[in-house]
Amino acid sequence: MKIRYFVLAFMFVLLPALSLFAQQTPQSLADAELPSLLAIYKDIHSHPELSGHEERTAALIAKELRATGCQVTEHLGKYENSKLKGYGVVGVMKNGDGPTVLVRTDMDALPVEEETGLPYASKTVAQNDEGKDVHVMHACGHDAHMAAFIGTARALAKLKNQWHGTIVFVAQPAEETGNGARALLKDGLYEKFGKPNFALGFHDKADLETGHIGVTEGYTYANVDSVDITVRGVGGHGAYPHKTKDPIVVSAEIINALQTIVSRENNPIDPAVVTVGSIHGGTKHNIIPDEVKMQLTVRTYKSDVRDRVLAEIDRITKGCAVAAGIPPERAPIVDVLKDQFCPATYNNPELTKRLVAVWKKQLGEDQVVKTDPTMGAEDFSEYSLPDHSIPAVDFWIGAVDPEKIAEYKKEGKELPSLHSSKFAPVPEPTIRVGIIGMTSAVLELMKR
Ligand SMILES: [Zn+2]
Ligand SMILES: [Zn+2]
Repeated sequence: MKIRYFVLAFMFVLLPALSLFAQQTPQSLADAELPSLLAIYKDIHSHPELSGHEERTAALIAKELRATGCQVTEHLGKYENSKLKGYGVVGVMKNGDGPTVLVRTDMDALPVEEETGLPYASKTVAQNDEGKDVHVMHACGHDAHMAAFIGTARALAKLKNQWHGTIVFVAQPAEETGNGARALLKDGLYEKFGKPNFALGFHDKADLETGHIGVTEGYTYANVDSVDITVRGVGGHGAYPHKTKDPIVVSAEIINALQTIVSRENNPIDPAVVTVGSIHGGTKHNIIPDEVKMQLTVRTYKSDVRDRVLAEIDRITKGCAVAAGIPPERAPIVDVLKDQFCPATYNNPELTKRLVAVWKKQLGEDQVVKTDPTMGAEDFSEYSLPDHSIPAVDFWIGAVDPEKIAEYKKEGKELPSLHSSKFAPVPEPTIRVGIIGMTSAVLELMKR
């Protein structure tokens, strides 16, 4: 009799309870949440918002974080441009004493006209900061980040028996303009919600198969500096060059001389890029103008390399003007735009190794790959602070159908890159691996 009761109890009470307990994994929670997250993803995808204008998106994230039990603060962020409103959202999930881990998503879209042909493609047109109407698209996949971020919050809320401490969920505005993270820190992110012990971020990858995580140990994105150069000359008639100091000819020399920074002055082992992306001068065929304006992007990893390259740009620019006989009072103005600096992203090697081991266990040995660093930029770097004192990892989520990658490779074609009007992640597997990758990483760092 007793045995029969026990069997019955086992079948009707313990078995379902056990299977319920067994379900509590990042995988099963991701699978359970996917249908609802897919609806959220499509909603965000068809309602993209430009950097610094993430009003609707932020409200949606705040609502979703609140539903997971987070204590939510909205309207965070202080920009240099006082006209921009801070749409940062922070959700704090407390679960007793323990470490603090920051989990970040970005929220902004790009001024790109969508050409994916998807049924939920964006038709949004919005005014940019210059007052011009532009098409808007989630061409960088930040919509997939947000869906995975919400899924991670939902999963971790259900896995509270497996971790302790405080998770600070940060939905960051203005990643594409490189100033959103700084705006949040300037608004007291760490003073208000605590300085984290670890910071984690993720990004979809436009040439990595779905189901995969990619990660780089050490530097993964570059320092970015924007430099404005004004080459000043002495203008005059195009027919009397001897009575002028021609800033156009001096600019041409400067551009060529700048190439020697990377090719002759920099240690080839240290990555560096100096690109003159814009040059404007003059109005007419027969007028030698008074000045020429140039805009440069400068990419480096190490801070001493950065300091040296910037000093060399200043020296070479001014030296070319001296060689051309430009009077000292008309020396070029070299302006490194401090508020547009984006620091290099450094994936803490020890933390990266620790997370790679976790992901391999979760997804399989072959699903976690080492990716090459890039000279692109990501302001996720701000969260680890300039001295990298907060260990941080920003990892990649595969977003492309493996068959599509194989097909493009076979035909020798380039896949649509991030920011392309034709790029969109395959939503389900991208979001799913985003949730599993982020949830398992947080559990590793906060486990009981
Ligand atoms: Zn982007
Ligand atoms: Zn992006």
